[in-house]
Amino acid sequence: MQEIYEFRVQEQHASRLFAPDEGEKLGWTKLFGDKFVTVRKVKLYADDPKFKRVGELEALIKKEPHGFFFAGWNILRRYTADELEKAELFLLHHVATFEPSGENCGTQYDESSACRHCQAGARQTTPLFLDWKRIPKSKDIARTIAGEIVVSARLMKLFKQHSITGAKFLPIRHRPASSAESKDWFQFVADSSDALIIAPTKTGIHPFDEDLSDEYRCPLKDQIGLNRLSEVWISRASYNGSDIAASRQFLGRRGGLLRPERLLLISPKLRRAIEAEKLKGFKFEVAHLI
Ligand SMILES: [Zn+2]
Repeated sequence: MQEIYEFRVQEQHASRLFAPDEGEKLGWTKLFGDKFVTVRKVKLYADDPKFKRVGELEALIKKEPHGFFFAGWNILRRYTADELEKAELFLLHHVATFEPSGENCGTQYDESSACRHCQAGARQTTPLFLDWKRIPKSKDIARTIAGEIVVSARLMKLFKQHSITGAKFLPIRHRPASSAESKDWFQFVADSSDALIIAPTKTGIHPFDEDLSDEYRCPLKDQIGLNRLSEVWISRASYNGSDIAASRQFLGRRGGLLRPERLLLISPKLRRAIEAEKLKGFKFEVAHLI
C-alpha cells in the first residue's frame, strides 16, 4: 500500500515551500464561514522532506490571526492487485456529498437519545425528508452534509440480485406535508453497527495534529476523533460477517447540521459486485480484521 498526501495549500503562502509551477492551481475555494481563498493542490509522499515542512509551516502560520498553510487535505491509498485480492474487508468512504441535509427538509432527530458528551448517535424519528432533486444524478451512493446516506434504485437492485446481507432501504419523502416517495432514491441503513474500531487505527485533526488534548474524543469512547488519519483496523470478534456493516464508534463532530458519523465496512463480495456494475459515488480502502 502506498500513501500519498494531498494538500490544498493556500496560494498566498505556497512560495514558502513550493516552486511556482509545483502542484496544480485550483483557483478559488470556499472555506467554512463563506471565506474564499485561492489554493493549489500538491501531492507528497510522507518520506518527502517537504512533507515535514508542510506540518512545520502549518504550525507556524496557524499562530497568525486566521492563518493557515493548507485549507484541506486528503490521504490517497493505493493498493496492489494482490493486496486487494487478499483483503478480508473494505472501508467504503469519500461518499459524494450534497446539501441540504435531512434536518433542513423536515427530518427530525431525538437529541435526547444522543451521547450527552459528544452528541453522537441521535436517533432519526421521522422518515428521511429530502429534496431528492439535489442528489447528484450520476452517483449511486451519496450522503448529506449531516451524514444521511442515500442509494440509487440501481444499487438496491444489486443488493437483491446478489443476496447481499446487512442493509435496509427506507423510502425518502420530499417533505412532511407530502406523502410522495422517491422511486429513484432510498435511505440506506446498516442493520448492524457493532464493528469495533481498534488500534492501530489513528485519528486526529489533520496529518500533523493527532488531537493530543482529545478535543474530538468522547470520554465514553463513542466519538473517537475528528478525522481518520490511517487505514482502519476492526476487531474480528465484533464483525458479524455481513456484507455491509457500520462501525460502533463515530468520527466527526456535532455542530450546526453536522453530526458524527459511523464508518461503513463492506465485504469483498459486495465490492466485486459494485465494481462489476461500475457504481459511482465513493472510494474503497482496505480495512484490516484482527
Ligand atoms: Zn460520546
